[in-house]
Amino acid sequence: MSLFANVPLAPRDPILGLNEAYAADPRSNKVNLGVGVYYDDNGKIPLLACVREAETAMAANPKPRGYQPIEGPAHYTTAVQHLLFGPQSPLLAEKRVVTAQGLGGTGALRIGADLLKRIVPDASVYISAPSWENHRGIFEAAGFSVREYRYFDAQTGGVDFAGMIADLEAAPAHSIIVLHACCHNPTGADLTEAQWQTVVEVCRAKALVPFLDMAYQGFAEGIDADAVAVRRFCDAGIPVLISSSFSKNFSLYGERVGALSIVTTTADEAARVLSQLKRVIRTNYSNPPTHGAALVATVLADSALRQQWETELAGMRDRIRAMRQGLRARLEAAVPGRDFTFVTAQRGMFSYTGLTPEQVERLQRDFGIYAVRSGRICVAALNSHNLDTVADAIAAVLR
Ligand code: PLP
Repeated sequence: MSLFANVPLAPRDPILGLNEAYAADPRSNKVNLGVGVYYDDNGKIPLLACVREAETAMAANPKPRGYQPIEGPAHYTTAVQHLLFGPQSPLLAEKRVVTAQGLGGTGALRIGADLLKRIVPDASVYISAPSWENHRGIFEAAGFSVREYRYFDAQTGGVDFAGMIADLEAAPAHSIIVLHACCHNPTGADLTEAQWQTVVEVCRAKALVPFLDMAYQGFAEGIDADAVAVRRFCDAGIPVLISSSFSKNFSLYGERVGALSIVTTTADEAARVLSQLKRVIRTNYSNPPTHGAALVATVLADSALRQQWETELAGMRDRIRAMRQGLRARLEAAVPGRDFTFVTAQRGMFSYTGLTPEQVERLQRDFGIYAVRSGRICVAALNSHNLDTVADAIAAVLR
């Protein structure tokens, strides 16, 4: 009998299935809002001008491709630290932060999870309800049991903060708490700075281990403003892990550029943590790839390219905001009496619309508008050409 005769078929990725159905749909006015990618106003994934320029300069001066350090090159990891903590952060001068390049945000989460499994093997991991679907998979694959804390309030389209705090307070000491630093996926509902401060206090009081997932730095308010959660945890002096992704804010999805940063208490602790993290990386993929991280590091180190990046990032952020305002205005006009303020209050690429699975199904069947069954739509897939079509269709299924 074949070794594989009894291998069961794994469940299909629901979003992949949605993409396949969308591709097979012959309607010319179809729209795919199920994706997790930023598109420009022409429905294309942008190649940022700053990236193009850095790439052109690199191609003009090609370098040999030796192995990189296990934790990635210092000019890259330092650039990541400056974005997260600010270049003047005393943590950096005190050498208390460990940063390693990761394979995208996903890879950074995974090496963080594998490291934590060595340090707190019996801890449980808490993720938000709901969360990015891969959070559960990543931490379960690392051997943790995964639970949820209350997060989204379907009544308001915002955060159930009282529920969240109650669940965090009830979590056993050393539990790992996965938090979306900004632009919560899938809901778009974020904490205020004051709410972050409360979460910091609970983590400190209950000896919880915060793990901030920063997949959208710059997509909500700006580079520094979006790091507010990171900075408040650092101010409190408690250990924190942070995964960074440059997939969205550099539009470098396929390059798999990310990083894991760990804030420790002393330089000596940092050196020991780094030594363990290097073992985790060495036995996973040995050392990280060169190209994407070199692009990011080049852009961030050159003042003109950095400025260009900030302008392009602001352009993506502003376009998403304009789509939110446009969608809200159209829905308010088409469905009077219903509250759509959540559309502009939510931040980042996604919005939990409150559409039921039946309404999502009708959007797809009757209008060729594809969304995730949970009612999540990707606002960054809206554009000036499809906004009316989408708003009309959503209004029709809501009426
Ligand atoms: N974390 C969250 C919350 C995300 O939404 C995503 C991507 O969709 C990731 C992590 C993964 O990012 P990457 O594509 O860089 O692995």
